[in-house]
Amino acid sequence: MHDRAPDSRTADWRARSLRHVWHPCTQMKRQAAMPLLALARGEGPWLVDMDGRRYLDAISSWWVNLFGHANARINAALHDQLARLPHAMLAGCTHAPAVELAERLSALTGGALGHCFYASDGASAVEIALKMSFHSWRNRGHADKREFVCVRHGYHGETLGALGVTDVAVFRDAYDPLLRQAHVVASPDARQAGPGEDAAAVAQRAAADLQALLAARHRHIAAVIIEPLVQCAAGMAMHDPAYLRQVRALCDRYQVHLIADEIAVGCGRTGSFFACEQAGIWPDLMTLSKGITGGYLPLSLVLSTDAIHDAFYDDDVARGFLHSHSYTGNPLACRAALATLAIFDADDVLARNRAWAAQFDAALAPLRRHRAISHWRRAGMIWAFDVAADAGFAQRYAAAALARGLLLRPIGATVYLMPPYVLDEATTAWLARETLATLDDALEAR
Ligand SMILES: *Cc1c(COP(=O)(O)O)cnc(C)c1O
Repeated sequence: MHDRAPDSRTADWRARSLRHVWHPCTQMKRQAAMPLLALARGEGPWLVDMDGRRYLDAISSWWVNLFGHANARINAALHDQLARLPHAMLAGCTHAPAVELAERLSALTGGALGHCFYASDGASAVEIALKMSFHSWRNRGHADKREFVCVRHGYHGETLGALGVTDVAVFRDAYDPLLRQAHVVASPDARQAGPGEDAAAVAQRAAADLQALLAARHRHIAAVIIEPLVQCAAGMAMHDPAYLRQVRALCDRYQVHLIADEIAVGCGRTGSFFACEQAGIWPDLMTLSKGITGGYLPLSLVLSTDAIHDAFYDDDVARGFLHSHSYTGNPLACRAALATLAIFDADDVLARNRAWAAQFDAALAPLRRHRAISHWRRAGMIWAFDVAADAGFAQRYAAAALARGLLLRPIGATVYLMPPYVLDEATTAWLARETLATLDDALEAR
C-alpha cells in the first residue's frame, strides 16, 4: 500500500535518510519497515513529498505549526530580519526582537510574569525553570528546597533534568539510573472518573494527593511542575481547570513554586492564549515553546515573576542566574514569534478558532458515534478519543492515514487531532471524513 516505485524520488531520499539520519523518537529498525515522508515543501496546512503527493499536517508537525507552512506574513518578517541581524549573542548585547517579544509576553500575562529568559528547545526551558526555582530558594536562604514534584504520566522533555520530572516509562526507563527522581503525584486525568464522579471530583482527588505530599515534605520541595489542562504526551489527558486553582492555592500555602509547562498547550491551543487563563491563575514560572514561532524555528523561553528575578539581583555574581545557550534570544526566532503574535491580533485568532472548532465538531459527529471509540474529548483546538484496540493499532492507524494523505500519529490507543489554525471549509470536512475512514481501515487491517 505504501510502496512507491523504486525509482521514485521519495524512495531515493528515504533510503539516503535511513543510511545517515538518526531520526528522533524512533526505533530505526522499525522505521526501516515503515513509510517515511520525504518532504519537498509545505503549503499552508499541507506537506508535499518529493513525488508531489500531498499530506494534511493534522498534528501541526508535532504540535508546533499554527498558521500553516511557508506562511507569507511570517516569511516576510524573517526576510526582513535576515537582512538586518540574523544572530548576535544576548549577553552584553540586546536587540529589538528580544526586547519586543519579552514586552509582549509580559503584557499577555497582565504583568504577572514580568521577565523572559530565552532558550532554544522546550526541554531546555524546563531545565531553566527547575534551576531558577531551586537557585532562587537558595538565594533566599532556603537551600533545603531541592526536590521537585511532577504529575503521573506528565511529560516535560528528554534532557536529563526534564526526564527527571517526566513520568512516561518508554522515554525514561532506560535512563533511570542517571536521573534525580522527582515525587510523582496523582494525575487529574478526567478519564479516571468513577461512577457518579465528574472531572471536578477527579481533580479534587488529585489535588488531595498533592496536598498530602506538600504537607509532609514542603520544606524540601522547590517546585511543582504541571501541564495545564492537557497532558499531551500522556495521550491528550484532559482535566478540569479547578485542578489548576487547587494546585495554585496549595503552592501558595506551602511556599512552593508552581511551574506551568505551556510548551504544548500555550499559544491558543486550548482556546485561551495561555491555558492557565482558563483557571484564572498565573504560575511563578511558565515555559513556552513549540507554537510560539508559528512552528518555524527552535525558540523556547521561561517567563518568571519579578519576585523570582529579584532573588538573583545582587552584587554577587554567583547569586545571578548564569545559565546560557549559544543561540539564546536568536533574533530570527524572536521575529518569527513577534509575527506569530501579530497574526493572533490582526486575525482575532482565538475568536476565529472558537467558530471553526464548532464547525469541526459538527463535521466530526459521525466519527464521534463510532462503536469502537470512547472518551471523546476536546480542549480548544485539541480533539482526542480512545480506541478499543490491540498494541499494533497506533502504527496501523498512522500508516492507513498516510495512505489517505493524512499525517496523524496516534499515541497508543489515543487518536488525536491538533490541526493548524488555518483549515478552510472543504479541508475541514475532508479531514473529518478521512479521520473516520482511517479508523475503519486500521480496525479492519487487524
Ligand atoms: C514537547 C514538550 C516539551 C519538550 O519540548 P522540546 O522542544 O521537544 O524539547 C516539554 N514539555 C511539554 C509539555 C511538551 O509537550
